[in-house]
Amino acid sequence: MPLVPEPAQTMARLRAAHRSGLNRPVARRKELLRRLRAMLVDCGPQFTEALHADLGKGPVEAHRTEIDYAVREIDYILAHLDDWLQPQPVPTPPQLGTAEAWTQLSPLGVALVVAPWNYPLHLVVVPLVGALAAGNTTVVKPSEFAPATSAALARLLSSYLPSDAVAVVEGGPARTTALLEQRFDHILYTGNGAVGRIVMAAAARHLTPVTLELGGKSSAFVDRGTDLRQAALRLVAVKFINAGQTCVAPDYVLTDWKTAPELEDALAKAVDAAYGSEAARVPEYARIVNERHYRRLVRLLASGRIVAGGDHDPQTRFIAPTVLADVAPDAPVMQEEIFGPILPVLAVEDLDEAISFINSRPAPLGLYAFSDNAGTRERLLDETTSGGITFGLPMAQFLVPELPFGGIGESGMGSYHGRHTVITFSHTRSVVAQP
Ligand code: NAD
Repeated sequence: MPLVPEPAQTMARLRAAHRSGLNRPVARRKELLRRLRAMLVDCGPQFTEALHADLGKGPVEAHRTEIDYAVREIDYILAHLDDWLQPQPVPTPPQLGTAEAWTQLSPLGVALVVAPWNYPLHLVVVPLVGALAAGNTTVVKPSEFAPATSAALARLLSSYLPSDAVAVVEGGPARTTALLEQRFDHILYTGNGAVGRIVMAAAARHLTPVTLELGGKSSAFVDRGTDLRQAALRLVAVKFINAGQTCVAPDYVLTDWKTAPELEDALAKAVDAAYGSEAARVPEYARIVNERHYRRLVRLLASGRIVAGGDHDPQTRFIAPTVLADVAPDAPVMQEEIFGPILPVLAVEDLDEAISFINSRPAPLGLYAFSDNAGTRERLLDETTSGGITFGLPMAQFLVPELPFGGIGESGMGSYHGRHTVITFSHTRSVVAQP
């Protein structure tokens, strides 16, 4: 059996590499990003196979949401990194005479990225891109619930990237606990809030700053008078990617009593248009990650009247894209993040009730509104809060590289993507110099 280095040894190696300044020059950072890009491009088949083994993801979806997404992030950062790293001059007060002042981004040191199972490649590689671009050395901890992808990342990252820049630590909670005893300079954790609290408590012992990318119930609101067919097609197009196991997927839909029956009908038609009557045969449609989540989701199917889907198969952990109507606010499906292919529709009186419904629950990661009414849009912006909000294009906040991606309150703290990842993994240093 190969000898697995202890977290303390890994840490000592990366700390020494950071102190040596090896990964600080911008040319070296770009070189590391190019190697990471080469790994993603060269090893596409190995990664798609692993993602299929872990989650039944089809190759098109694996490329679109994981591999190619990460390649685009690298290309975007490579194109802009020089600009972002330029010193930013600021005005000085008169009492400092001719002194000049500016801010500049400097590396933090050794970063830790802890990732979950649902996008097991993307959620390791995209934060890693930022950590390297910012000049840090980095430890990544893939999820043990996506073992094939975790093993592929461990094997391929160590062959494409030098061990004095990146280390992969595989394993479950015991190994992560040992890792968290080390003093990192930044931790980016993606996953559920219960473990988020454990990570934050461990980080507090070393005063290590954390970025927590968590989840929760992202809400959708469909206004009266909206093009319901269009709204339904767009909701279905994003909700059932990865069989609904997506942190930013719309968790439930609010609409008014009058609109609800028509919207439910439009959603059922949109599911049929996208998946036909036998979603189990659609090669791109993913499976539920494990037995525990499968059983949890099957129990939630009883929370309302099934207007589309509902079929499921324990052998393959398949659950069809499902739309539920007549769902009560206190139904089991409304008590936890669904994180699976079930979309409940809840009827409310009007916009006022929709806003108070959203505000009575933890702030969501995403809020997805469909309304042609400028006043309604304004009220949703002013009177609710969420990590991101979109009008007409659910989940698109994820696709704009200049937008910070992150939650608020129970859905997380801090943000990343593009420039924001580089800022997250850097220290904004204040400099004053007398010429
Ligand atoms: P998971 O079970 O894979 O856990 C995530 C990571 O935490 C893993 O690496 C795991 O090893 C580690 N971990 C588990 N228990 C631990 C412990 N006791 N101590 C230290 N580390 C531990 O994934 P999950 O939490 O089930 O992921 C799903 C959740 O993640 C959902 O709530 C989803 O919304 C959220 N999520 C958020 C984002 C985002 O970008 N905001 C993205 C994906 C998923």
